[in-house]
Amino acid sequence: MYDCLQLLDFAARNSKLDEFAKFLKSENAKYNLTAITEEAEIVSKHFYDSLVGERFLEEGANVCDIGSGAGFPLIPLALLRGDCSFTGVDSTQKKVNFINAACAKLDIKNCYAVHARAEDIAKESFTAVTSRAVAALNTLAEYCLPVLKVGGVLIAYKGSNAEEEVRAAAKALQILGGKTEEIFRYCLPTGEERALVRIRKVSPTPAKYPRPGNKPRIKPIS
Ligand code: SAM
Repeated sequence: MYDCLQLLDFAARNSKLDEFAKFLKSENAKYNLTAITEEAEIVSKHFYDSLVGERFLEEGANVCDIGSGAGFPLIPLALLRGDCSFTGVDSTQKKVNFINAACAKLDIKNCYAVHARAEDIAKESFTAVTSRAVAALNTLAEYCLPVLKVGGVLIAYKGSNAEEEVRAAAKALQILGGKTEEIFRYCLPTGEERALVRIRKVSPTPAKYPRPGNKPRIKPIS
């Protein structure tokens, strides 16, 4: 596991992340991929924040990042953790195209992205799932727990209200086969508070989940 200073050093100095930042800025001008475009903010709010999740990635994990957007936490994690394989999933085609173009340009071989909704991903196919800024935890649990193998881990990137979200998702987690193991709090170099929620899949998710028709978002389990 890397400590905070090592992660910060990687976020600020890794040559492929530097190249990725340049590519992100140039493509963002055409495709409007992210609201964060200032160099120091990209390093802190995108790169460093993404990298913190590596502490919960087990050796050789097969990772699915749900709602990767412009590649976060997907691409920084793929660069840091060459022992793991990464699949990004997003429902917006231009973001998937951007991630795959970035992986080709930067010669990142352990990562690619697919255009799909989380609800349509094959069940029980990954040993880890990451997700940042996609949905509240009760909705997110229904997107992410079905695709995890029993024994796998969901790493949910959250803000300072993580405990509240965990409380509100208690019933969803119980029904879907998840158990909260740890809430890890940290601060970004720019000062904002963040938290990672580590949820273990302890039992199979019942076959009726995820529910169709955008129900996980419209009517979360409560
Ligand atoms: N994870 C990235 C980050 O932290 O910068 C992107 C966050 S962005 C606010 C949310 C992303 O989730 C969008 O790119 C959206 O297309 C995607 N998304 C939302 N619901 C989804 C679903 N059900 N399946 C797949 N992608 C979804």
